[in-house]
Amino acid sequence: MKYFPFFFNIQKKPVLIVGGGAIAQRKVELLLRSGCALRVVAATITPALSALLQLHQAKTEVRRYRTDDINNCTLVVCATDDSSLNQRVSEDCRRAGIPINVVDCPALSDFIFPALIDRSPLVVAVSTAGASPVLARRVREKIETALPMTLGKLAEFCDRFRQKVKQTLPATRRRLFWEQVLDGNIGESILTGQSTDATAAQQLQKHLQQFADDDSDNGQVYLIGAGPGAADLLTFRALRLLQQADVVVHDRLVSADVLSLARRDAEKIFVGKQRNQQMASQEEINQLLIDLARKNLRVARLKGGDPFIFGRGGEELSALHAAGIPTQVVPGITAAAGCAAALQMPLTTRNIARSVRLVTVYQRDMHNDNFWSELAYEHDTTQVFYMAGVMVDFICQRLIAAGVADDKPALLVCGGTTAAQQHFCGTLATLPQIIEGRWFSPALLIIGDVAALARADNETQETRNAIKQPFITLQEEFPDVIPTAVAHY
Ligand code: SAH
Repeated sequence: MKYFPFFFNIQKKPVLIVGGGAIAQRKVELLLRSGCALRVVAATITPALSALLQLHQAKTEVRRYRTDDINNCTLVVCATDDSSLNQRVSEDCRRAGIPINVVDCPALSDFIFPALIDRSPLVVAVSTAGASPVLARRVREKIETALPMTLGKLAEFCDRFRQKVKQTLPATRRRLFWEQVLDGNIGESILTGQSTDATAAQQLQKHLQQFADDDSDNGQVYLIGAGPGAADLLTFRALRLLQQADVVVHDRLVSADVLSLARRDAEKIFVGKQRNQQMASQEEINQLLIDLARKNLRVARLKGGDPFIFGRGGEELSALHAAGIPTQVVPGITAAAGCAAALQMPLTTRNIARSVRLVTVYQRDMHNDNFWSELAYEHDTTQVFYMAGVMVDFICQRLIAAGVADDKPALLVCGGTTAAQQHFCGTLATLPQIIEGRWFSPALLIIGDVAALARADNETQETRNAIKQPFITLQEEFPDVIPTAVAHY
């Protein structure tokens, strides 16, 4: 972040504006909202600005700027069209350590003005760090239309009861209480102006009492599919529950972008393998989820893709059911669907593939001929192998040995839907040569005639030199399984 956003209390603090034209006037109008002690210095001041300053009894000095004008100022804004004056004021401020804004000149400024959506005390500030003020304004317009004008009233109302609620309810229950107030009748009646403040206050007191008396468990676990990586592939429901959760339990397949959508104050617990540290076992993860829910917390268990496709989500759910914990399951976009979309390659399509098989090769299947001949038999099925980035060669060889034509299209896609996405197209015979025995993670091997529909993106010598960093390495993804699996072939 080039400019860090703060909300800065400048009430009664001395703020100087240098300049007396239309642009200075816009800044004056804005700063008058802050309640600062405003002073304007300019050689000439337009009649409109002069009238405005008089109306607000702001100090005005019609004369040339002097260096000592900035003394003791908290902030300085320079809004003149005289570039040498702008330069001088900026230098003076920087020497004195006073934050300066020179309008429309980021190089001379320490801070910039964001686009504001003002529902005081609720304020939203938008900035593109000067990259595109028009874009910032566009975003502001969108937010403006989404936020009711009466939101400020609602914020003030909540503020009046903050202390009382804090004294009455423990921290873990406060958030739920406030969510019920904001999302329920009380919030609605204030926003729409249906009830007087006094009635709303009475309703709130009553609700608070009931809420305090009812200390039944609120703990629950949301088993959420986090999709294949790109954050905007989450469902609305996943996002809503993720933002409600007090704790987020996640592993490596959940991308950082998705994780950043959780509440900032939610505890994030990583249960994947960390270097030199043992990965939490499935039993430990199950127990952790149960313990957290029993502490009355709302837990988001984030799992890559869909929680019920090779995600061991079923095991977690059974353990939670056995412990009597309330649960919800939110489907996610599984890697096969995400990668197919990213490659613009249908998984089924008339006359080419009429079914899809999502499959993974367990160790016990590796040398089971029935397993491979069953797969070889499915000639009009698209086969999507999960957890396959280490055994491309092996799978291709086994399928050829089981009778599949060696020119059957095959592709490997790694990190699909993320910035690190890459894919390699070939056939059962050529793909292993194309990837030269390298390992990829997380990667899908897709075999079937549809694979010929994806555009080839095989590396050139140049891209090979700048090989993309996958968001998880194979060893990190399968700390236990892979070394043993590979040792077997
Ligand atoms: N529940 C997940 C799958 C978990 S198993 C889902 O529904 O997608 C982990 C495997 O998923 C990886 O080994 C890889 O085969 C696949 N995978 C997950 N994310 C992927 C991605 N972004 N690109 C390619 N494959 C991915």
